[in-house]
Amino acid sequence: MKQVFLNTLIITLVASGTAIAITWIMMLMDADVLPQGALWVAMVVPASIAFPTGFLFEAQKRELLKAHSALANAHSELSMAHDAVVERSRHDFLTGLFNREHFFRCMRKRRRDSSFGTLMVVDADRFKLVNDTWGHAAGDEALKLIAATLKQNIREEDLVARIGGEEFAIYLDQVSTQEAHIFTKKLLEGVSEVDFYPDEGVSHQLTVSIGGADLRAGEGVSEAMARADSRLYEAKNSGRNCSVLFDTDASVTDIRRPASAG
Ligand code: GH3
Ligand code: MG
Ligand code: MG
Repeated sequence: MKQVFLNTLIITLVASGTAIAITWIMMLMDADVLPQGALWVAMVVPASIAFPTGFLFEAQKRELLKAHSALANAHSELSMAHDAVVERSRHDFLTGLFNREHFFRCMRKRRRDSSFGTLMVVDADRFKLVNDTWGHAAGDEALKLIAATLKQNIREEDLVARIGGEEFAIYLDQVSTQEAHIFTKKLLEGVSEVDFYPDEGVSHQLTVSIGGADLRAGEGVSEAMARADSRLYEAKNSGRNCSVLFDTDASVTDIRRPASAG
């Protein structure tokens, strides 16, 4: 308010000062041209107009600045809310991993930018048993543990998502299926070593099976996905807790230890 008053005073002084100066000069040039009291009129009239007008103008300017700043704050809050909504729409609510839609969106983009990579489908083994034995909440906990283990065992530049109920997908950029064996071994071991206690004093070993495929030049993501899916089926048929990444017998990564003899 003090600033508004000061600005108003300056406007008033400038208006009156200008009027007085003009009147003064005119009187110096020819004293008879102006009536008696002209100097007072030159002082009072501009001041009485400039003061309320200036005050109104300054007060409105102040309100406008306040509104502008409130608008800028609202805009920044809206932009943050928008970012949060976009971020949430990309993630799976249970595990925090990317969801199916965002995973395939990212895959298509990677497909345009990079020459090769390995796509893997990771499915929790005998998961229905977990739900049936210890309930859905225990099953959810197991999914979170599996998701965290997958995330821990891949590189920053790789993609991982929950693409269905107990099914995950991983894309290893610039990694051949041969090299991906190292990853699948780490993933299989990592999941099988997770501490999962579905009930008090009860521990249960979680395992996953993995099917993988390389992304071939000129091929769409869905074709590679279909091959990875059929290899997942092979991994399940090979007894689970293993991975199949290509079509030879040597492709099965099996971390199951043989039962120790006698
Ligand atoms: P397989 O080794 O052949 O994959 O056997 P499976 O039992 O894992 O497969 P199946 O398809 O028979 O069962 C999948 C189970 O996963 C059934 C379903 O209730 C459970 N599931 C799917 N989504 C969720 C989820 O969000 N939370 C929980 N707790 N369970 C889920
Ligand atoms: Mg399963
Ligand atoms: Mg499944």
